[in-house]
Amino acid sequence: MLTIFPVIMVMRQTTRFIKNQLHYKFGKSNFISVSKKFTTLHFLETGMRETIRKEVAELLENAIELRHRFHEIPEKSFEEKKTAQLVAHELRKMGLTVEEGLAGTGVATTIQGERVGNTVALRADMDALNIEEETSTPYASKHKGFSHCCGHDGHIVCALETTRVLVRLRKQLAGSVRVIFQPGEENGTGAQEMINADALGSPLPSAIFALHAWPHLESGVVASKSGLITSAIDYFRITVKGKGGHGARPHESISPIIGIARITENISALSGKGDHDTPPCAVSVGMISGGKQSNVIPDHAAIEGTIRSLNETDRQQTVERFSSMVKTICSKERLGFDIDFLKYCPPVQNHPDLYHLFEKVGAELIIPEKRAYITEQSMGSEDFGNFTQLLPGLLIRLGMGSSSPQLHTSKFDFSDASLETGITILVGLAMKATETDFKIGLGQ
Ligand SMILES: [Zn+2]
Ligand SMILES: [Zn+2]
Repeated sequence: MLTIFPVIMVMRQTTRFIKNQLHYKFGKSNFISVSKKFTTLHFLETGMRETIRKEVAELLENAIELRHRFHEIPEKSFEEKKTAQLVAHELRKMGLTVEEGLAGTGVATTIQGERVGNTVALRADMDALNIEEETSTPYASKHKGFSHCCGHDGHIVCALETTRVLVRLRKQLAGSVRVIFQPGEENGTGAQEMINADALGSPLPSAIFALHAWPHLESGVVASKSGLITSAIDYFRITVKGKGGHGARPHESISPIIGIARITENISALSGKGDHDTPPCAVSVGMISGGKQSNVIPDHAAIEGTIRSLNETDRQQTVERFSSMVKTICSKERLGFDIDFLKYCPPVQNHPDLYHLFEKVGAELIIPEKRAYITEQSMGSEDFGNFTQLLPGLLIRLGMGSSSPQLHTSKFDFSDASLETGITILVGLAMKATETDFKIGLGQ
């Protein structure tokens, strides 16, 4: 069983961990931005805008073909072997030194620029979902029961092609860019495991960027917001213990199935939009298990699900309401119960300075029709939150088209038409962010 916070083995990581927890506890924007001036490369004045656009345009055909190859081989969290091999192969073709086997299947590389600057990081996630694909594309999943229906195939290719452009623009690149391809995002633990495996390198990069496919925006639109952008997530399991017996004599048994049904029914009342007495939160059940035969009342049954919350106060309040509801139902039904919180992932906090940089780079490189502002945080979660606890980070949404099927559904397919802006914004951010020093601080 996994505990809420991972066990950190070495002293350096322990220090980081304590710092993280302090940062999370005190919340909000505790970042202090320290500016160390480097020479600035103006995209517009130096013709870099045209250079970047040309570089991206030239690789698009190849990028689409590569995206389809990744799409064909979706793999389970922490089993992304073929995917990681293909990522490493592509990076080696660019002449880069590749680190493999980080946190199991993670891959990382560094692009060293020829100008003076900082180190920043780009992160892509590689895993797929246990959902049978129902698209009719010629490149549909060849792995039965699995599909890239969260768009991570597109994230991989955006990061790979950004790397390709940065390698070609090494002369103009200040500092270095660390690119990491992580396993197990869907599992909620891959980011932390990559941090524990020192995938970010040392010293830590001064900023980290990632993007995620987003069906709620037109194809190719890049959008983000400052501050909170995704919720925190707790994974729970409730095991209810009763007294099993013959299906013909339910009065002689205490059915855990009835208890589980009552709990499931009451869980929807815990979710709220932040009005009345309920904080903004989402509680849902994703798995029910119990019993093996139709005429046998089992001894125990279980449900698993998630609690999403936007801050620590709301999280504690929701967990308390949740636990008290389970306790009330079980005592009424004379059932025993255990509640296990299996894993936790913090919310993604976008650093305000990085959001400002995103707006600036967007205005220089991306046409206005392909830019948008996100006003509300999502109740979805991203283990990128583990990175933004540690260093300034920015998560960008990349539009898949308003008619796109939703993420985590069998018909979803990453939009190839979005690759151009996805790659362009990452190239621009990497090149600009290495010219600035974004430092994290506590206590202000
Ligand atoms: Zn997902
Ligand atoms: Zn995802």
